[in-house]
Amino acid sequence: MQKQISKNRSIVKQNYDWKSQLQNRITTADQLLQYVPNLPESQIFRNLYQNLEQFHELMAQMSSAFRFAVTPYYLGLANPENERCPVLLQILPQKPEINDEVFSRPDPLAEEAHRPLPGLTHRYPDRLLWYLSHNCAVYCRFCMRKRKVSRPESITGRENDEEVFKYIRKHQELKEVILSGGDPLSLSDEVLRSILGRLKEVKHLASIRIHTRMPVTLPQRFTQTLCDIFKEAFPITIVTHFNHAIELTDEAALAVRNLRMSGALVLNQSVLLKGINDSLEAQEELLLGLLKIGIKPYYLHQCDEVHGVSHFRASIESGLKILRDLQGRNPGIAIPRYVLDLPGGGGKVPLENDYRLDAKGLVYENWAGDPFVIYRDSSNADPDASVGRADNADRIQSTNLEPGLRGQPGDY
Ligand code: SF4
Repeated sequence: MQKQISKNRSIVKQNYDWKSQLQNRITTADQLLQYVPNLPESQIFRNLYQNLEQFHELMAQMSSAFRFAVTPYYLGLANPENERCPVLLQILPQKPEINDEVFSRPDPLAEEAHRPLPGLTHRYPDRLLWYLSHNCAVYCRFCMRKRKVSRPESITGRENDEEVFKYIRKHQELKEVILSGGDPLSLSDEVLRSILGRLKEVKHLASIRIHTRMPVTLPQRFTQTLCDIFKEAFPITIVTHFNHAIELTDEAALAVRNLRMSGALVLNQSVLLKGINDSLEAQEELLLGLLKIGIKPYYLHQCDEVHGVSHFRASIESGLKILRDLQGRNPGIAIPRYVLDLPGGGGKVPLENDYRLDAKGLVYENWAGDPFVIYRDSSNADPDASVGRADNADRIQSTNLEPGLRGQPGDY
């Protein structure tokens, strides 16, 4: 796929440091049209809005709902001449955000129901999710926390931190603290240094994980100072959120390089988004591109059933098909786990293709559609079989398998 960089990239490109990028975010319809004057004439605009008035109305409504904001850097990746521009589709509000007739729940994962203290979700015994900030550099229209993200007034103040640290120290079963939000890296370096330093002193924690989209939306954030803070807090895992190959710019690659030099492990989670990355080609390009800049693809999320995002939701079948087709096309380390967060706080489950056909042993179908027999134990192995390949159709007819057994793609 050809990368289509907007003509306005040279205008809105960086030469800003990260604080200026944040201060100069585009937050209104008028500012957006100033930056991208040809937007109203574009096909993508006509696909999304009936007319200019409807666009203005929707943008105005967002100021009291899930806000609109984009950094000049990220907007510079947009190309209105592409009617499926993945950047514009991720940042432009659409009508179903307000009138979602499919999903009604603002918090289907019950994060608030598992809240021992303001700003925390404690669902799994060993992990704690700490919402450090409700601000982000860019507000992604598919956000699953739009019930509180983008509203700075909804965050508990830093004075709550003492209670959080008491909670973490008390709960010795905790192995990992996940810093999330919003974007935790929208906090100042000083606050981050203090929080990470204090977490490092908690001896029963084995891992600090930071979820941030800033390598995508504000790669200038990864200054030497910030990377030094991560270095002091080693080991840190950064989970970022690239959804499309167009986001893998030189600036993003430099940010990831700086992060890796700090000793951080860098992983990516993306969301399967209808019309944006729900094709084999889009995923292949994204996943290989991630690998090239030093990021291990970690999770591909099935879009959650959150109010206001139903227009982004691709089917589970389409996701499974993509994952299946990726086997044999991409190296194993460039294939993420496709996961679903169960509604009601049930936690994550991997969505796996069933590679098993059937057999006296187990028969798996590989990426090319060839069946292979794997004997369940040595008692039923066929001594005449030279290799595991099931060339004979007879060998895949019997049905003595336990229900629920599933084939797992190889890890190599
Ligand atoms: S960066 Fe993350 S938390 Fe912020 S709007 Fe995007 S998806 Fe939501």
